[in-house]
Amino acid sequence: MDLLKASFSDIAEAVTSKAISAKEVSSFFLKRAQSLNPRINAITSFNDHALAEAEKIDEKIAKKESVGPLAGVPFGIKEMFCTKGLKTTAASKMLANFVPPYDATAVERLKNAGAIVLGKLNQDEFAMGSSNENSLHGVVRNPWDVTCVPGGSSGGSAAAQASRLMAGTLGTDTGGSIRQPAHFCGVVGVKPTYGRVSRFGIIAYASSLDQAGPIVSSVKDAALSLEVISGFDKNDGTTSQKAVPAWSKQLNENVKGLKVGLLKQCMSGALNADVQKAVDNSLDILKKSGAEIVEVSVPLIEYAVPVYYLIAASEASSNLARYDGVKYGYRAEFKNLSAIPLEDFYGETRGQGFGAEVKRRIMLGTYCLSSGYYDAYYTKAGQVRRLMVQQYQEAFKSCDVILSPVTTSTAFKIGERISDPLAMYLNDIFTTSTNLAGLPGMSVPFSLSAEGLPIGIQLTANHFDEQRMLNVGLALENASSVRGKNPNVF
Ligand code: GLN
Repeated sequence: MDLLKASFSDIAEAVTSKAISAKEVSSFFLKRAQSLNPRINAITSFNDHALAEAEKIDEKIAKKESVGPLAGVPFGIKEMFCTKGLKTTAASKMLANFVPPYDATAVERLKNAGAIVLGKLNQDEFAMGSSNENSLHGVVRNPWDVTCVPGGSSGGSAAAQASRLMAGTLGTDTGGSIRQPAHFCGVVGVKPTYGRVSRFGIIAYASSLDQAGPIVSSVKDAALSLEVISGFDKNDGTTSQKAVPAWSKQLNENVKGLKVGLLKQCMSGALNADVQKAVDNSLDILKKSGAEIVEVSVPLIEYAVPVYYLIAASEASSNLARYDGVKYGYRAEFKNLSAIPLEDFYGETRGQGFGAEVKRRIMLGTYCLSSGYYDAYYTKAGQVRRLMVQQYQEAFKSCDVILSPVTTSTAFKIGERISDPLAMYLNDIFTTSTNLAGLPGMSVPFSLSAEGLPIGIQLTANHFDEQRMLNVGLALENASSVRGKNPNVF
């Protein structure tokens, strides 16, 4: 079996039927990861117990005990997820030595399904960023062109997956952090409906927007792994009680009669020519396969970036208040602790523990939530958010799935936007509205630009309609010209 091409079910079937052992699969990926990772810096730490855990799966199989649908499938996990006994730093000095005593629900469910956690993956600090340049662990490089960013904040997940250092990865998406790096690295990334996947054990950034999802090599793998991690969790009151459909079994590339909405707001002159061409070609393909293309409009998308950055920063300033060197996290060193005024203690600790971008968000968010500004900013942003949901509901009356670009461009150069926060934030123009509205969204690799960089297509569906989104994703994947092509670091 070619482990570089094998799907999750190929691996699980081979392991379950003893054609290959889980230990052999894991050691293959570990060796590969150890040799290629120095070129892209996607992995922050390895799980020293991975092979022993894989052996346990093999023992279960030998004893004819049941193993799950991901038996022996090696996974990498973004640093935002708590993993029992494995460092979980959120790529921040603040949590540089944090080793959680428990697994996030999503990780626990992967493990219960037989997956093996091989290591943790790089990201932007506290998932704030679009380029993976804000990290305690250093910049991640795009495997297609190591002078380019992999996207962010789940840049380590997308880069590790693109060069196949892991069979699968998990990421989180608050404003595009699964879809945008998936687009930049030529892999499949799915952000499910808000409430599908438990946030328990995931370090909180902006709780009303955060969702976890897979960044993997195919739509089929995305459907299966999403099925495994989804569903109600008593530890997260925002998870939905809705049953989780067997998306992977019901995948169907037939789009005949389906209405695909082309989002008017995304077709402005701001798109780079290659991205525009990819969108046009994807529409042609869907049309030829029998889908009907209709234009839809969500006018408030124009305000998605400011609304998102107000809400995300406000929630972040509240969520990150706990990292004060007393309750949690890094503490600055003081010669005579008892003589230090409390304000100085907090100021030094938080000043040293957080990076520049995180501090910028905390200050922005604290300002938005302060009395006198709360109504003008936070309340107003919430009102626009509500109206945006209504506009999406209107749009979904005339279409089943919405198609748009993921961002205006392909992966940009390392260093190009890092000193211009506004240019960086504008990168999230097409992804943030999906989170604000709580909708499921995905990026599916579709083509390569003239410079050989991947271009993904974004699909968005109505709440809890992941199936139709995945089906259209499958149709695009089957027609994709990147399929089977490998990045330079492979
Ligand atoms: N780039 C966005 C931000 O910096 C989105 C990040 C995310 O989805 N976690 O907030």
